[in-house]
Amino acid sequence: MLQSQLFTKTRKEAPKDEVTTNAQLLIRAGFVHKEMAGSYSYLPLGRRVLLQIESIVRDEMDRIGGQEVRMATLQPSEPWKQTGAWDKVDVIFKINSRTEKEYTIGQSAEEIVTPIAQEYVRSYKDLPVAVYQIGQKYRDELRAKSGIMRGREFSMKDMYSFHETQEDFDRFYAIAKEAYLKVYKRCGLVAKVTEASGGSFTEKLSYEFMVLTGAGEDDILYCDACSYCVNAEITKQQEADACTRCNKGTLARAKASEVGNIFDLGIKYPKDFGFTYKNKEGEDAYPIMGCFGIGITRLMGVIAEALSDDGGLVWPESVAPYRVHLISLATDDLEVSSTANLLYDALLDLGVDVLYDERKGVSAGEKFNDSDLIGIPLRVIVSKKTLAEGKFEIKHRASGESEWVSREDLLARFV
Ligand SMILES: [Zn+2]
Repeated sequence: MLQSQLFTKTRKEAPKDEVTTNAQLLIRAGFVHKEMAGSYSYLPLGRRVLLQIESIVRDEMDRIGGQEVRMATLQPSEPWKQTGAWDKVDVIFKINSRTEKEYTIGQSAEEIVTPIAQEYVRSYKDLPVAVYQIGQKYRDELRAKSGIMRGREFSMKDMYSFHETQEDFDRFYAIAKEAYLKVYKRCGLVAKVTEASGGSFTEKLSYEFMVLTGAGEDDILYCDACSYCVNAEITKQQEADACTRCNKGTLARAKASEVGNIFDLGIKYPKDFGFTYKNKEGEDAYPIMGCFGIGITRLMGVIAEALSDDGGLVWPESVAPYRVHLISLATDDLEVSSTANLLYDALLDLGVDVLYDERKGVSAGEKFNDSDLIGIPLRVIVSKKTLAEGKFEIKHRASGESEWVSREDLLARFV
């Protein structure tokens, strides 16, 4: 992609009402455009990051047997009334049509997926089954001040599973938990799992996935020796207490942001819709249901917060909008330009995603500042010095380390 033709440009200031790091950086770097509090448009750079995150999530959900669907976002009010959520859940948007029918635009899809499963799951032989979707969700938030981390419109992966027994749900939960931890690791984050109360969904326990970040909204305590982790608000334990699970480690306190959750929904929704299947004994039974969420746009916001520095965004390679930021200095010099052009073509030939800053009349300082702000992992600089040395200067965004490498060595990294 030629940067001179990029649809967006960096800007010096973010809107004054943006108080969070994620929104300030993503707006200044041209990844998102604010429409109103809690509602953002994703511009080419931002859309590319979302696609990368979606691809990681899709990969891990497919691997544990999830089947991707796309359920309706515009939903009839009747199933929401049937489960009681229409009156109980205050964050759902309610729409009146000109034919005086009531609809909602989905904040989740239990009310849609349960009746669908009811049509196809007849026998224990059809279980277990898990379907998921990645798409827009809507919540009527009173305050939406966390940038893309808590939107009125946001993108979410929501998976729903149905099981014969509690044991089978527990088995699948353990597999899904590992898949979730892989998702966060692949996104360059360190995540912990806490147990929490189920909120408005169910009386049963739920599990929250928390990423350690100084900008997080929650305080957690986690064991330095085992995987034990708990929200500091709900517990009587304190920092430096001995871990009661492993009896080896001590508890450390950290700020964290929630990036996913799993709910054990029991038989609530199947019961609400009269959804039974024939079990092995030939009797009617309700399936046990689970719901598994990952906020895709929220995850992007958390990555932006957790991995940024004073210069701007710092994307891990796995979710970066481009892998290489090629920067040509001395664009009026024909030899420098043609060397940069040839390198750009060679990288494209190797299938490398490159943002190529070939803008004329922009100083080296401005180009470097923009590059820091946008946060592509590897910067390659082509200048008059390149011609003199016969080497390219490359700089790693995360570490700030530079090195000089030959064209062959540079290209060999991507073969
Ligand atoms: Zn422990």
